Amino acid sequence: MVLKPLDKLKSKYMGCMLGAAIGDALGKQNEGLDRKEILENGYVTDYNKARAGLPGEKLRAGQYTDDTEQMIVLAQSLIECNGFDAVDFAGRIAKWGADAQKDPLRKSLVGPSSAAAIARLNSGKSWKESGSDIPSCGSAMRVAPIGLFYKDLEEIESNAVLSSIPTHNSKGAIAGAVAVAVAVRSALCEKDCIAIIKDVTSRASKYDTDLAKKIRLSYEIREKEPEAVSAEMGTSYLVYDTIPCAFYCLSRHFESPEKAILEGVNAGGDTDSIACITGALCGALHGIDAFPEKWLKGLENREMIEHLASAIFEKRRIL
Ligand SMILES: [Mg+2]
Repeated sequence: MVLKPLDKLKSKYMGCMLGAAIGDALGKQNEGLDRKEILENGYVTDYNKARAGLPGEKLRAGQYTDDTEQMIVLAQSLIECNGFDAVDFAGRIAKWGADAQKDPLRKSLVGPSSAAAIARLNSGKSWKESGSDIPSCGSAMRVAPIGLFYKDLEEIESNAVLSSIPTHNSKGAIAGAVAVAVAVRSALCEKDCIAIIKDVTSRASKYDTDLAKKIRLSYEIREKEPEAVSAEMGTSYLVYDTIPCAFYCLSRHFESPEKAILEGVNAGGDTDSIACITGALCGALHGIDAFPEKWLKGLENREMIEHLASAIFEKRRIL
């Protein structure tokens, strides 16, 4: 069935947020394992529980991690404030983090940068001073709703920067958030892969030229096998690894979203965040139809995520 342009755009909005959650829920099964261990355990292609000892071991099959939880917090803040409001968002993230740390099932999911920043926010520090200086990917993994909410790349860039500061205030983390938010918008606009990479690197390079260069490189080496790329580029939780790895997965399988997400899920290292970012970009490019029905059916809180994405879609039509 051929969708009308507006229906197609709405499907891309929902696909973006669902894709992030799907990638996260699939990728949690391999979080912290290296590529060799993953291949020995078996290439992951569907939901399951994470093995004992991994950060998400207590979560159910199809349940996502902190990446998607933080993305949901950001989406809710954008909807209720009619745009990005740093005070509101920082307050919500501080509450989310405090709740997650009290929950035995989710406690181990909160990353060290987020945990330290959340402690500072909850002790009364301003959002301008609470952010960590570790260049980890926590603000990039949650930022997709900024790319959905704003149309103009200038506004997307400035709000992605603001959204990073309360928890991740290093130049690398800020550049990472800008890169992913800009990529979401460029993907919504039906750009081809090299055009998306150009938009992303020209904006991200204002904050961190090293990250921008590595994102460009991830596109240039897209024909190389993942074994070589994992070793050459790295897959750690730092933005210099997670973000280029996600762009490699996207570039390598630009027309095959299922393959792109599974490439991220099985890349090694910070697989939940790599696949979360890859999934958001695939969904923004291809819409909900990008994903197999079993991934949509088995996803925790699918309706709630669809509802948030469609609320952002409706807001942006009015504003
Ligand atoms: Mg996670």
